[in-house]
Amino acid sequence: MDRIIEDIEGSEDGPLVVLVSGVHGNEKSGVEAAKDVVNTIALDSIPFRGRIIAIRGNLQALAKNKRFIRYDLNRCWHENAIVDILSNKGHLEAEDLEVRELLDFFNTLPTDNHSPKLLVDLHSTSSEKGDFIVIPEDESQNPIVQTLKLPVIIDLNKHLEGTLLQYMHHHGFISFAFEGGAVGTDEAHSLHISGIWELLHASGMISSAIREQYSQYSQYIKDHHLKLPRRVSVVYHHKLETASSFRMRPGYHNFMHVKKGELLAHDTSGEIRSAHDGMIFMPLYQPEGDDGFFIVKEV
Ligand SMILES: [Zn+2]
Repeated sequence: MDRIIEDIEGSEDGPLVVLVSGVHGNEKSGVEAAKDVVNTIALDSIPFRGRIIAIRGNLQALAKNKRFIRYDLNRCWHENAIVDILSNKGHLEAEDLEVRELLDFFNTLPTDNHSPKLLVDLHSTSSEKGDFIVIPEDESQNPIVQTLKLPVIIDLNKHLEGTLLQYMHHHGFISFAFEGGAVGTDEAHSLHISGIWELLHASGMISSAIREQYSQYSQYIKDHHLKLPRRVSVVYHHKLETASSFRMRPGYHNFMHVKKGELLAHDTSGEIRSAHDGMIFMPLYQPEGDDGFFIVKEV
């Protein structure tokens, strides 16, 4: 399996868009969507400005259809941890090798002859209605990101440390996670595809006519998303201890309203009730992961 899915350059200078997919190996929709859009551009000889590179994140986890092999590749991008991984002469864990290769790739990216520079990290979630944007707060009003009209989580980075988007944010990219929906659904696949076309248009790479020809996004948003919040902030993070045997009660999905005191989940110590009125966010319905759920509020 190759790291680089496709790397194409337009006829004129312009933006750099890096589509990262499969940082979690069980989330295939981003890989397929990135491949679909970039292959379409190449095969149909669609005119565009700038450069588009689509890559795979965790190759070993993708091959096994697992979220990760030894550790989460989207929680390890601390500057100190990276220095350790690079200087380690001994045994390297599976994800250590992925980090090394990804850094090699990032180091090849042009630094100043493209504007803007976007890194779009494509994910999908384990619960329903899982389409939203995660972005550092100071970029949350960026017009390119706003074009997706999805709920924007402005401060998740304070709760999830070591994400790839934070790392690339510090390295000069407008970087955000684009969560396309529930893992393995057609909805996630088509939202990712249309969303990528919208982002290419909003960043100035493709014309409005091309966007209209290839993206079903406006209709999708009209049909499904009028009632979703636009901008939310995290008020509570239920972090899991190891082997906590956490079990979310069935039926919750992103942005579903919950009341203070509502029974949300169980673990070995008993009932877990909501400490706040708000909306549930990223309820965990898969065995792997360290975050049970979040409570968010519209801001
Ligand atoms: Zn993910």
